[in-house]
Amino acid sequence: MQNRRNFLSSALVGAAAFSLGVSGAEAQDKKKKKRSSGKAAGPIVISTWDFGRAANRAAWDVLKAGGRALDAVEAGVKIPEADPNNHTVGYSGFPDRDGRVTLDACIMDEKGNCGSVAALEHIMHPISVARQVMEKTPHVMLVGDGALQFALAQGFEKTNLLTPESEKAWKEWLKKAEYKPVINIENKSYDTKGATAFNPLMLPGNVYNHDTIGMVALDANGNLSGACTTSGMAFKMHGRVGDSPIIGAGLYVDNEVGAATSTGLGEEVIRVVGSFLVVELMRQGYSPEDACKEAVTRIVKKNPERAKGIQIGFLALNKKGEHGAYCLQKGFNYAVCTGDTEDKNTLIDGKTYFK
Ligand code: ASP
Repeated sequence: MQNRRNFLSSALVGAAAFSLGVSGAEAQDKKKKKRSSGKAAGPIVISTWDFGRAANRAAWDVLKAGGRALDAVEAGVKIPEADPNNHTVGYSGFPDRDGRVTLDACIMDEKGNCGSVAALEHIMHPISVARQVMEKTPHVMLVGDGALQFALAQGFEKTNLLTPESEKAWKEWLKKAEYKPVINIENKSYDTKGATAFNPLMLPGNVYNHDTIGMVALDANGNLSGACTTSGMAFKMHGRVGDSPIIGAGLYVDNEVGAATSTGLGEEVIRVVGSFLVVELMRQGYSPEDACKEAVTRIVKKNPERAKGIQIGFLALNKKGEHGAYCLQKGFNYAVCTGDTEDKNTLIDGKTYFK
């Protein structure tokens, strides 16, 4: 944790780095706090959870061909969006408590352009709609019926996103309809005796409890982009929007510095504008992991009791291709891809605040 003096000096380093330009910034690097959890030369793509590996693979195909990070992240997150076995993103996502599948997504490029959709129904790839919002409208965010209207006008097809398996899980949930969701608590670390909250993993069938896919990438030209997409909290109130489609909360990219994304209980991430915070901390000289750790710590400080019962994970990549993550509870991991082979697309456990 930083004291005031350290904070001021690292803030000055950050400010100096800007005024000095790239080589000056590199010279200052030696003075910066450096405890990166991972290092890789670009191109590189990283994403949340184990299903991030399949997503990374699709993103990597774009990156290795010299493509833009923006195209890579869009292609990458489309994999879990279309996966019928993934019940927390896109098609077959768990519905809200009224039985409606409502999706949230956003995308951001190296120029600071961004687009977002929230509470979008019936569209398999909300990330691509978010990209169209970015590229074809003067706006950043479209929600609900307006987002759907726009998507249909752009030629996206209407699809029934509620699969029989997700419907079954929802009907099971309706029996108690307990509105006390817990996010991301892994099966293995979940204490059912102490459980007061609903957990989709306790449902019959092999139902995924993992959440948002957040992905950030650095391409061969040294440009960063990111994408984030989710069906949000299972059985949420109709109209509830989490952090994932909110630029600065679920995703932020600053091509001078780095990019960050998040997963977990979105309300908490919104409260600290989490991904923006992580990027700003990297600007001040924090390593990706330390920046994520500080953001997680900020959430705990706001409400230590609440933090004990939830999961939050942040993931970050800086301009040098260094990556890191930090989360509240055990169980969060992220996938890092730097090449074609399996050993270059690995899962890393996030370090945790609660041991
Ligand atoms: N952050 C997402 C939300 O709050 C869900 C998650 O990643 O767990 O909607």
